[in-house]
Order: sequence, then structure tokens, then C-alpha cells
Amino acid sequence: MGVSGRCAVVTGGSRGIGRAICLELAAQGANIVFCYAGSEEKARETALACEQLGVRALAVRCDVRDAQDVQAMIGAAQEALGRIDILVNNAGVTRDALLLTMKEEDFDAVLDTNLKGTYLCIRAVVRAMMKQRYGRIVNLSSVVGLRGNAGQVNYAASKAGVIGLTKSAARELAARGITVNAVAPGFIDTDMTAAMPEAARTAAVASIPAGRMGDARDVARAVAFLASDEAGYITGQVLAVDGGMSM
Ligand code: NAP
Repeated sequence: MGVSGRCAVVTGGSRGIGRAICLELAAQGANIVFCYAGSEEKARETALACEQLGVRALAVRCDVRDAQDVQAMIGAAQEALGRIDILVNNAGVTRDALLLTMKEEDFDAVLDTNLKGTYLCIRAVVRAMMKQRYGRIVNLSSVVGLRGNAGQVNYAASKAGVIGLTKSAARELAARGITVNAVAPGFIDTDMTAAMPEAARTAAVASIPAGRMGDARDVARAVAFLASDEAGYITGQVLAVDGGMSM
């Protein structure tokens, strides 16, 4: 039960929420393949920390925007683990600017990573999941995809797009034993939010009913639940992990 003995692919596992997801799944007994974009040293540390929890772990460099890279990463995962039961689409970026000053390349970069990357990874695993009639897909959306946020039209569009993708894929795959859900974190303490100006961070914390930023492990535990055997009758849902921010 849980995720014990399952084989999981996590995108963006070198840092932040993705690293916490890898560690949580590993602590619960899942074998892990995860990808990273450039942080090789941090990826090595994550893989080692997973192995120390007694499971197999492999880090693969892969740009989720690139279909060939994604195919190669999924191929490496299938070779290393023998099967893929769980896919967590976590890799994501921000390129914040107000609408009028946002560069077109920054709009494209965010959509390509957060939304197209999610599509490419699902496409790469879904045939095998359909054959085995089992799969758990969890996509990282955001409270910003639910509510919007000034300065983030690209990011909000990508994360709202992830919700539409999640619900559509859930409808297509439900009868094949594959669930597709999204987790929408609020304001979580990672490199992504550390890059925000101090005034914006203070304002964000003030809008959280729980009165604090979230920890990456808060998100990881929700992802692990949706990735578990027990969550088999939950599909097409968006689970906010945000201290009440999106209420
Ligand atoms: P983070 O600390 O900036 O880490 C991002 C991760 O994504 C890193 O592992 C990075 O790899 C990887 N990545 C970035 N671009 C990639 C690409 N093109 N191909 C493959 N991997 C790539 O971010 P985070 O805060 O943990 O966020 C994780 C997810 O949660 C994202 O989807 C984010 O949008 C979402 N989220 C975060 C928050 C928050 O408050 N932090 C709130 C809501 C939603 P490298 O280390 O190699 O660069």
C-alpha cells in the first residue's frame, strides 16, 4: 500500500519542492528517477539522500521543454526501474514582470517549461501506464493558477493551463486505472520564492490564514498521498496546499 515498491519519476528533483517529493516518496519506499536542468551537484545530493533511505535512485539531466530529452529521460527511467507507476510533474520556473514590460521570450519560456513540459512528460509515460493499467500522475499547479497574480501573467497562465490539462487527461485516462491530479501550493519556502523582493514576500505571508509560509515537505506529503494506491478513486482534482490562501 502507499507507494512502497512503486517506481516514480519526478521532474525537477534537484532542489526545493521536487527534492522534498523525491525524499518523501523514497522514505515511503518508492524507487526514484528524477531529472534536473543544470544543478548537477544538488541532483547528486538528492540521489544520495534517497539511496540512504534504502531505495534505488537515479538523477538524469533533462530539459523538460525538449521532447527528445524527455523521451531519453523516460527511457532511462524504464531501464533503471523496469516500470513507471508514478509521474510527478514538478519542474517549473518563473520570469516575473508586469504585462506591459514582459518580454515575449519570458512568456514562452515559462509556458514551455511549466505547461508544455508537463504535457511532454505525460505523453512519454502514458502508453506504458495504459498497458499496465496503473498510473498515478500528479502535476504541480499553483495558487496563482487559481487566483492570478499581478506580475505573473505567464506563470498564472501556465499553472491554470496545468489545471485544464490535468482535468482533461484525467477524463481520458480514468478507465485505464490512471489517475491525474494537481497540487496547488501557496507560498512555499524555496529558491523560487527567495528570489522575490522582501516587500512582496511580507505581503504574501500577510495573506495566508495560517500565518506562515509553507514548507516543501507540506507539499511533498500531499503529492505522496495522491501518488499512493489509496488515492485510486481520486482523479481530476486540484488539492490546494496553501495554509488557506486560496479560500
Ligand atoms: P525551485 O526551487 O526553483 O526548483 C525548480 C526545479 O525545477 C529545480 O529542480 C530545477 O532544476 C527544475 N527545472 C527548472 N527548469 C527545468 C527544465 N527546463 N527542465 C528540467 N528541470 C527544470 O522551484 P520550487 O519552488 O521547488 O517549485 C517547484 C514547483 O512547484 C514548480 O512547478 C513551481 O511552479 C511550483 N510552485 C512553487 C511554489 C512556491 O511557493 N515555491 C508555489 C506554487 C507552485 P535545476 O536545479 O537543475 O535548475
